[in-house]
Amino acid sequence: MEKFWSDKIKEIEPYTPGEQPKDKKYIKLNTNENPYPPSAKVIGKIESMNLEDLKLYPDPDVTELRKVIAEYFSNKINDKITHKQVFIGNGSDEILAFIFMTFFNAGDKVYYPDITYSFYPVYADLFNVKEIKIPLNDNFEIEIQKYFRLDGHIIITNPNAPTSIALKLDEIEEIVKNNSNQLIIVDEAYVDFGAESAVKLINKYDNVLVVQTFSKSRSMAGTRLGYALGCESIIEGLNRLKFSFNSYTIDRISIEAGIESFKDNEYFEKTNAKIIQTREKTSEKLKKLGFKVLNSSANFIFISHKDIYAGDLYKELKKNGVLVRYFSKDRIDNYLRVTIGTDEEMEIFIEKLEKLLQK
Ligand code: PMP
Repeated sequence: MEKFWSDKIKEIEPYTPGEQPKDKKYIKLNTNENPYPPSAKVIGKIESMNLEDLKLYPDPDVTELRKVIAEYFSNKINDKITHKQVFIGNGSDEILAFIFMTFFNAGDKVYYPDITYSFYPVYADLFNVKEIKIPLNDNFEIEIQKYFRLDGHIIITNPNAPTSIALKLDEIEEIVKNNSNQLIIVDEAYVDFGAESAVKLINKYDNVLVVQTFSKSRSMAGTRLGYALGCESIIEGLNRLKFSFNSYTIDRISIEAGIESFKDNEYFEKTNAKIIQTREKTSEKLKKLGFKVLNSSANFIFISHKDIYAGDLYKELKKNGVLVRYFSKDRIDNYLRVTIGTDEEMEIFIEKLEKLLQK
């Protein structure tokens, strides 16, 4: 054991990100990236940037991007949101870590489902917060009554990952209403693929914090951009943390790329609609092959087959050049999480499955 490591670093079990293999070219359906490139406007903007400006620090307040995001959501929900209600982070993972540092004291409790994004337990451990896992029901659904009147902040991933199932906005609102002294963090990494955003609640309640990302529906996982929306005092708290940590978390190129992305709504809507269409088509085909497919509102599906163990299927698919995500964890070890790629990629995926099922 490394002699200089702190006690925490000695015992912590870090998060394992999905594989990014370099050995050969796979059909990559394992990390919920978008199969389509960023908007041409984003690419054009980066290509036309004066790269000499990289000698200068970026805007530490990220004001312009915050304003563009505030304007987008003001129009979307028909209510005024200002840039003081928007926080920008280096990916939503960074924002989630900042949330733990800003709103929890060591020893506090945090509540989330037993099956959800597996980074939360790592943050809870890192920041000495006590996690309390609330079991999903047998259909892998969140039962909202189990989240009423709790004694710690709550994280709800909506749609949930890796199950892909979404709560309705009024269900999220019930959780918010029934916990006025706790913060409800709604991780909406996948919301644009078919769920309703809780941004509508941020002017109505002072205990909702919505986290979104550019990594999925905006095809920009490589720029590392995430954002959060809430009431001004919540966002000010996050900024106090950020400015006590690293003033320049967002680089100049990402800021410009982010602004352009929000200006190209047409492309954003077109690619999301395409992914939803491919998801529905793929789900139907899988059901015909005997797969159980959970009802997805995300850019991935969660599937299981009674005749082949998911762990074996994962290995066989990988041998055949298709990478999906397998979690060898309690309750979900017979499921695979499959990102929705292009129509062509999903057709190859189905063909490979057909052959494996015939064996
Ligand atoms: N939340 C959820 C539920 C996710 O699945 C992911 C992606 N792994 C993230 C947050 C983080 O995304 P990013 O840091 O790329 O914004």
